[in-house]
Amino acid sequence: MTRVLVVEDEAQIARALQINLRVHGYEAVTVSSGEGALESAAATPPDIVVLDLGLPGMDGVAVIRRLREWTTVPIIVLSARHAAEDKVEALDAGADDYVTKPFGLEELLARLRAAARRGTVRPEPPRVQTAEFSVDLAARRVVRDGKNVRLTPTEWSILALLVRQPGTLVTQRELLTQVWGPAYAKEAQYLRVYMAQLRRKLERDPSNPRHLRTEAGIGYRFDP
Ligand code: CA
Repeated sequence: MTRVLVVEDEAQIARALQINLRVHGYEAVTVSSGEGALESAAATPPDIVVLDLGLPGMDGVAVIRRLREWTTVPIIVLSARHAAEDKVEALDAGADDYVTKPFGLEELLARLRAAARRGTVRPEPPRVQTAEFSVDLAARRVVRDGKNVRLTPTEWSILALLVRQPGTLVTQRELLTQVWGPAYAKEAQYLRVYMAQLRRKLERDPSNPRHLRTEAGIGYRFDP
């Protein structure tokens, strides 16, 4: 059965969606906040996400970005925001489709069918384990010797990029562009500073790293 995660803080809409999706053969799980959506998606990955943008706490666009760190699950935005810039922002963040409220049920069902056809295999939230530390990409958690390691957002972004591609050389340019933006593509010293910090937090012997390896002058590689 296709599992749909509905993220909607308006109880009436959430309830109506849940009932209608079930009637049409979907398994529907509803949550009312972005934080709840991330938890639910990590615990039981859905096949499709239907996401409201205006949520209490974490905004819907932030939810899209967080999901896209580890999953390609189809995301259909269901929002009262009609402006083109809102649509562009959500699509750029990684949404696949955008339906504006008020919406017709038939239209939403058609979009769900299209998403299910394109659908990918339900991904398991990736956890990477090394001899020294583990990284939970969905929960954004790094554990070393049984303790949570506190990383800054920049350190996390670098680590997540490397860990998602184990054994692959990631160039300095790619890291700088992804983490800081295209204007910083040549600031290799930023990377040296942050990689040193990451190694101090994660490596047994930071001056002789086993997992966060440097390819001199080219980039970095994560070896599990
Ligand atoms: Ca809302």
